Amino acid sequence: MDFPAVLRRIKEDERYKAAKSVAVQLPEGMKRGIGDITRELNDKELIFIGDPFWGACDIPQDVKWDLLIQFGHSPIPNLGSFPNVIFEEIQDDMDFDVEPEKIPFKSLILTSNVTYSNQLPRIKKKLEESGIAVTLRRGDSRVFYPGQILGCNISTARGIEENVFFIGEGIFHPLGISLGLPEKKVLSFNPKTGEYLDMEKEKRKFLRQRYNAIDEASRAKKFGIIVSTKIGQTRYSLARVAFNLLRESGRSPFMITLDLVRNEELLNFPADVYVNTACPRVTVEDYGTFSRPVITFYELQMALGLKDKSRYIFDEIVMTDEIGSSSFRKRN
Ligand code: SF4
Repeated sequence: MDFPAVLRRIKEDERYKAAKSVAVQLPEGMKRGIGDITRELNDKELIFIGDPFWGACDIPQDVKWDLLIQFGHSPIPNLGSFPNVIFEEIQDDMDFDVEPEKIPFKSLILTSNVTYSNQLPRIKKKLEESGIAVTLRRGDSRVFYPGQILGCNISTARGIEENVFFIGEGIFHPLGISLGLPEKKVLSFNPKTGEYLDMEKEKRKFLRQRYNAIDEASRAKKFGIIVSTKIGQTRYSLARVAFNLLRESGRSPFMITLDLVRNEELLNFPADVYVNTACPRVTVEDYGTFSRPVITFYELQMALGLKDKSRYIFDEIVMTDEIGSSSFRKRN
């Protein structure tokens, strides 16, 4: 990817030209590379947002700058339009191309993280030419690109097809598909290493972890319910439902708002278990970093005996409570 070319393209944007002060929000992996940005965008007052961020759900509000450039994520359509935000996805070429002979499916649903969403039509064609039937599906209103998977939304992987093929690094996205659609076979391909990973083993490992947490929650008395203050993660209404369910079952719940959901911020609260209504990634991926069990809203329902435990329900976000603005950004 030619990053300086990306920055030159941003400089041609009328919103950039009109701005005096520009904030830049970068994924952790890009923070070391700010040299290109300070060199290329040196005609503006630049401020780098130091807080970590993992998605377009995190758009700082009540800000002092004229424009925000958010790198690494696509917009979330149903949060509304943000006229003073440029979303620069940084879509990449693939280091390793897909090898159809390594895919043991005759038909599949094709998915990826945002980095490779632009490659999916090409890959679909390649797989179809090798005889595999491929479905590339548009997701719900939280997802921008056909086939795109978010850590909190797997809607593009739904359908009657038995198999899902995911392209991207890391296991969190394909794990979400596996947990959310346990009847499907999920194969993940990492374009940086060329590796293929059958998600079945990972799914079983994480389900064990989740059912242990549900079990601990079923015996707990004091529950802290976490509500995110990030615009695209706020599910206060869901937290209220959790609060009422806990009260009705004779437990002691309380609600906490947090921007960054980390163990340090929770240590001093007197909870036996936390119910996380913020990003589902926190519950599943960061689980080992918390000193007390953290569960999702659906896991709480299972712990209270209100939902059948035999079919695990993955926590997905479609709508949040607070809508950023009135108009929706149009998808391609
Ligand atoms: S809520 Fe979590 S998974 Fe969803 S977009 Fe935000 S950071 Fe990503």
